[in-house]
Amino acid sequence: SSAMAKSKFEYVRSFETDDTCLRNCYIVVRLDGRNFHKFAEQHHFTKPNDDRALGLMSKSAHSVMEGLEDITIAYGQSDEFSFVFKRTTTWFKRRASKLMTHVASQFSSSYVFYWKEFFGEQPLLYPPGFDGRVVLYPTNRNLRDYLSWRQADCHINNLYNTAFWTLIQKGGLTTTQAEDRLKGTLASDKNEILFSEFDINYNNESALHRKGTTLIWEKRDETVSKRIKRPNEEEKQVPVTRSRRKVEAYHCDIIGDQFWEEHPDVLEN
Ligand code: ATP
Ligand code: ATP
Ligand code: MG
Ligand code: MG
Ligand code: MG
Ligand code: MG
Ligand code: MG
Repeated sequence: SSAMAKSKFEYVRSFETDDTCLRNCYIVVRLDGRNFHKFAEQHHFTKPNDDRALGLMSKSAHSVMEGLEDITIAYGQSDEFSFVFKRTTTWFKRRASKLMTHVASQFSSSYVFYWKEFFGEQPLLYPPGFDGRVVLYPTNRNLRDYLSWRQADCHINNLYNTAFWTLIQKGGLTTTQAEDRLKGTLASDKNEILFSEFDINYNNESALHRKGTTLIWEKRDETVSKRIKRPNEEEKQVPVTRSRRKVEAYHCDIIGDQFWEEHPDVLEN
């Protein structure tokens, strides 16, 4: 407060170090759930993918974006979510620790706040935590490669987990047997096991699980009906159309060009 501003203690402020993010770079904040392997077990997440948990992650990411319009795109899978700030953002004077902690705490509190909406009567056993990191990407190519890296990770893990849990749940193998069966296999081998032994075409599995969740802002024309009363006229309903920004979720490929061609506003120049 201003009363304290000139105290003899004020000098300690100068111990704070500068963590301003380089100008012109995209600022990426990635969060990851702490010890979620255990958290998933304790909260009886279905294997390999619990849709309640994925829904709650997306809802929490929505909540972060609604409060920070300078986040242009977010991508999530498993217990992680990445948030991309536009190049020109001046939020928190681009201070890395402020941006990161704001995202992490808004996300964590939303995860707890909305828990019941997704898990119903199943109790949250303890307060979950998320770690955060900040990475800067100077070019559109770098940023797209970053997001591609996360989606490729989603694909690799989900193909493995789908094969692993199918061998157990439908093939009757133990976890050790399933591990041995998949040791050293390529993606094509896993696809083949699923297809020839279990009649599963991996490409027909849920897009949410194969591709993760991409959140972007979209302009939507929203028409609401307004009651209007002019002097000497009867009250009437008239349609009023406004353009609103709304967070929209996609479960599609973001590695190829198509997504970026269809949403040219996400990347700047
Ligand atoms: P910023 O987002 O920049 O931190 P802020 O509104 O949180 O903005 P602060 O300088 O952090 O601003 O001040 C916190 C304010 O919250 C106080 O000025 C006071 O109005 C209010 N506040 C916090 N704790 C209490 C409390 N225990 N009792 C009454 N008011 C409180
Ligand atoms: P760390 O604290 O180092 O991040 P971690 O246990 O969270 O450790 P991660 O590599 O982040 O390890 O992996 C997250 C784990 O959480 C997954 O391996 C999986 O077991 C579990 N998990 C997360 N989300 C889901 C989900 N929607 N459905 C099922 N399991 C999930
Ligand atoms: Mg304060
Ligand atoms: Mg980790
Ligand atoms: Mg984790
Ligand atoms: Mg993780
Ligand atoms: Mg404050």
